[in-house]
Amino acid sequence: TIGEVAQERKYRAFAVGGFVRDLLLQEKNFDIDVVIEGDGMVFAKALAERLKGRVRVHKKFKTAVVKLPDGLKVDVATARLEYYDYPAAMPTVELSSLKLDLYRRDFTINAMAIHLNPDTFGTLVDFFNSQNDLKDHKIRVLHNLSFVEDPTRIFRAIRFEQRMGFTIGQHTERLIKNAVRMNLFDRFFGYRFFGELKGILSEENPLPAIRRMADLHLLPFLHPRLKLEPRLTKNLEESQAALAWYQLLYRDEPCRNWLVYLLALTVNLKRSELQDFCQRFEVPERNRQQLLGEKTAAQQAATVLRRALPDSNSGIYHLLAGLGPEGLLYLLAISRKKAAKKAISLYVTELSQVRPELNGHDLKVLGYQPGPIFRQILDQLLDARLDGQVRNREEELVFVR
Ligand code: ATP
Repeated sequence: TIGEVAQERKYRAFAVGGFVRDLLLQEKNFDIDVVIEGDGMVFAKALAERLKGRVRVHKKFKTAVVKLPDGLKVDVATARLEYYDYPAAMPTVELSSLKLDLYRRDFTINAMAIHLNPDTFGTLVDFFNSQNDLKDHKIRVLHNLSFVEDPTRIFRAIRFEQRMGFTIGQHTERLIKNAVRMNLFDRFFGYRFFGELKGILSEENPLPAIRRMADLHLLPFLHPRLKLEPRLTKNLEESQAALAWYQLLYRDEPCRNWLVYLLALTVNLKRSELQDFCQRFEVPERNRQQLLGEKTAAQQAATVLRRALPDSNSGIYHLLAGLGPEGLLYLLAISRKKAAKKAISLYVTELSQVRPELNGHDLKVLGYQPGPIFRQILDQLLDARLDGQVRNREEELVFVR
């Protein structure tokens, strides 16, 4: 359909990027990146109309996203040949707008295209020997200035390398080391770095990628005091174990893996240093609050747990009730005492689920006047439940009376 909609307007349409890569690798990928030689915006609107999808347009970048009813997402970009758009390293001969678009991409394996117009449908476009790199399992940039243009690609290279079991090409690795030596990052702080870091930490197993980042001297760039010493490695491994354990509980409440790993990675940073980190990388407000909120709550709980364990279930409950799943798993990962670990897992598996059976309505029937007293009674009831003083509705009724 994409090809037909383009054809009707005399545009040429190509599938590009990760979609083509994953297709050749026979991996699943539900997002299609499409490049249009023509007006991408007009095309996106027409496609949405034809397939009853919704379209969101970013005028400034001449891109659009079409969301289809079956959950498929089509990213649409316009291939342009505008002079001022040329990347610094682009040779100026023999250009097609598609080639220029592909040349601007991060790695050769992401720089192939497939024709979508009906007359040439399925023809692979490979200007840069990408198929060979895919076969050799190599991550290679398209030109020497790639990391100078956009250092976030260094993080992408590491992510792809670890996720797909590829290796960064020798020359590309040299370019990374050069970029690190030149301290290119200083000029390019910002949310895109954070996005890529989040990408790495959201992968199935981010530990090898973190190790790779350390080997390439990238951790000090996140924060000068960040070093992958044995204790930190242990924390990361424990985080992984905690996340695997949590997954087996099949909780409805989702857990953001990246947040647990980021908390573990920055365990040695003070709150103020973490705040600086958020500012430097323009961490979105919501993520910032999650990160700092969980850090503060977990550190407070850790201090108490190090001194003495609460001697009752209600004590454990009140110590940990302010934490989300990420903070709890982080706390579990950094706690070394067996008894502390046991208390935290008891909270996650059981105590956090405990609620009194009686509710406000029941209290009204029992003759209590609605008001702050309700909260007090229900809190006391919860503690009694947690500590086993009441076990069912009948005992709760006796307790309240
Ligand atoms: P994933 O499966 O992780 O989504 P992807 O390859 O689809 O992998 P995206 O981040 O969705 O990755 O990017 C889509 C495409 O955009 C990539 O395939 C790549 O060609 C291009 N791209 C993304 N980021 C950059 C960048 N920093 N520089 C150049 N090209 C990029």
